Amino acid sequence: MRKKIVAGNWKMNTDLDGAKELASGVCGLLNREVQGGTSQVPEVVLFPPHVFLPPVVRICADHQGISAGAQNCHQEEKGAFTGEVSAGMLASLGVTHVLVGHSERRAYFGEDDQMLAKKVERALAHGLTPVFCCGEMLQEREAGNHFEVIKSQLGNGLFWLDEIQIRKTVIAYEPVWAIGTGVTASPDQAQEVHAFIRKLLADKYEAGVSANLSILYGGSCNAQNARELFSRQDVDGGLIGGASLKAEDFIKIIQSF
Ligand code: PEP
Repeated sequence: MRKKIVAGNWKMNTDLDGAKELASGVCGLLNREVQGGTSQVPEVVLFPPHVFLPPVVRICADHQGISAGAQNCHQEEKGAFTGEVSAGMLASLGVTHVLVGHSERRAYFGEDDQMLAKKVERALAHGLTPVFCCGEMLQEREAGNHFEVIKSQLGNGLFWLDEIQIRKTVIAYEPVWAIGTGVTASPDQAQEVHAFIRKLLADKYEAGVSANLSILYGGSCNAQNARELFSRQDVDGGLIGGASLKAEDFIKIIQSF
């Protein structure tokens, strides 16, 4: 059975007190969900800024079903890369996941497919789960090229992995035109792309891979639209930006299965 996952990408937000408060708030509300036992509770991953990972890891460690991920890692093992953070450093903190290929990293930091493939490799080597983000820009969708774009991003960045490695990853479909814009992909649009990704997996790997790999939707997902998005067959949860910054909003998304 595929894992349901809801992940919160805090981006460059919060300060130390705010990060602790948000993580504690989510953990407290999540506990109530788990104990209540009424709804299906997904796995939850919080992605705070790097500097706040140690306290967030500690807070999550006291709770079931929640862990901390990093928003990025460097593609090299170690060395003269001033200001950078390696996958090994993150793993040594108790971080479980790392975002790779978020559209903001691709756009503002020039991260290309080759670099992203190395980041995936580095993350896996340290036991981190890469959450590999893919998605088309508005003009690519308008030109009807979105399937080609996604195929190429996944082909170059991720699908070079072998059967064992690919099973240790998560894919997030995040149309760039939906990120932070308030414009969400419709449930049909999300389902169509997720089914396409699953077909790509099925063409490349044995059937169990496609059936068991979680594919998350990201892009202006919130408490109002999550339920319908998550009800679609191939949508296994969400990568949430803005709506993950308030514990009460985020927990409503977690309750949307
Ligand atoms: C994101 O940055 O991954 C994201 C999905 O952002 P938002 O939910 O704010 O669109």
